[in-house]
Amino acid sequence: MLVVMKAQATPEQIQAVCDHIEQLGFRAHPLPGAQRTAIGITGNQGAVDRGNLEELSGVAEVIRVSKAYKLASRDVKEEDTIIHFPSTGTCPDSTIGGRNLAVIAGPCSIESRDQAFAVAEQVAAAGAQFFRGGAYKPRTSPYAFQGLGLEALRIMAEIRQRYGLRIVTEALDNDSLTLVAEWADVIQIGARNMQNFSLLKRAGHLRKPVLLKRGLSATLEEFLMAAEYIMSEGNYQVILCERGVRTFADHTRNTLDLSIVPAVQRLSHLPILVDPSHGTGRRDSVLPMARAAIASGADGIMVEVHNQPDKALSDGPQSIYPDQFVRLMDEIQQIAPVVGRHLSRGIHIAAAAG
Ligand code: PEP
Ligand code: MN
Repeated sequence: MLVVMKAQATPEQIQAVCDHIEQLGFRAHPLPGAQRTAIGITGNQGAVDRGNLEELSGVAEVIRVSKAYKLASRDVKEEDTIIHFPSTGTCPDSTIGGRNLAVIAGPCSIESRDQAFAVAEQVAAAGAQFFRGGAYKPRTSPYAFQGLGLEALRIMAEIRQRYGLRIVTEALDNDSLTLVAEWADVIQIGARNMQNFSLLKRAGHLRKPVLLKRGLSATLEEFLMAAEYIMSEGNYQVILCERGVRTFADHTRNTLDLSIVPAVQRLSHLPILVDPSHGTGRRDSVLPMARAAIASGADGIMVEVHNQPDKALSDGPQSIYPDQFVRLMDEIQQIAPVVGRHLSRGIHIAAAAG
């Protein structure tokens, strides 16, 4: 159910409606919009008795939301969600969603301070706003490099300070979630954890943006339901990320499903990024698919960059060289205006140089 408030409803009236909903034993989710606030109701098994709600002051109407996902749905919030990262003195103002494209770049894993700094310097100079690097790695083999853990989080905190890049890194389980939430700007939940419902709920208790990657075989509905798990706990700052799915195709590691971009945008207000690195698994496919991602209307990309990919401890074959990343940025900057977007790079170049 959704309570749509009148455009002129006061904050006190909104609060009174939320209190009423909570007194009924349900959860109220106030979602401010450009014109008016809507209040999503969750926790009800059947329909909520709309009678009383419609009579509360400031209420315009009460609507039944028929979709399985509610808070993630455009039925509940019509306008696109823009995640704001206010300037901090170290990092400039930035957004994910809206007109400006977001670019997250960095190595698959943080391997050492030298490696991480070498990559960060170059991606900052090329104009990325976010730095990615795995501290806790979900590896197929238990014998493969598992990540540097807290040491990697500390290295990335130094990188934020030095280059003004915001940090995106993956939380693998409850323990790492606590640490990642403390150190990072965006908490990544990886493809393998997309339906780890207890982890999703815990991420929902936090008040930090969560980048949720699509599961290896997840349908669009399953993907949006995973986002709903986070939002149902009160964290509405969810960023979706397409990273390829398993198919019979064997010319790439995964099949990058760009058609999910307009499909998500039709059904949900959440921003969606594309990861052409895991989506293809091949260095030579990353640039073309990054261009295609922006052309498809994605809100940005996440891409793996390494200064010495042949020596990388994870995902070397899909990591692009820093000079290829510069080209990628030049190319998507040109494509951006065709799809009504903008790639802002200037501030970061200055920050990296300074
Ligand atoms: C990653 O971003 O390094 C990663 C492990 O991604 P995914 O969860 O999409 O495989
Ligand atoms: Mn990787």
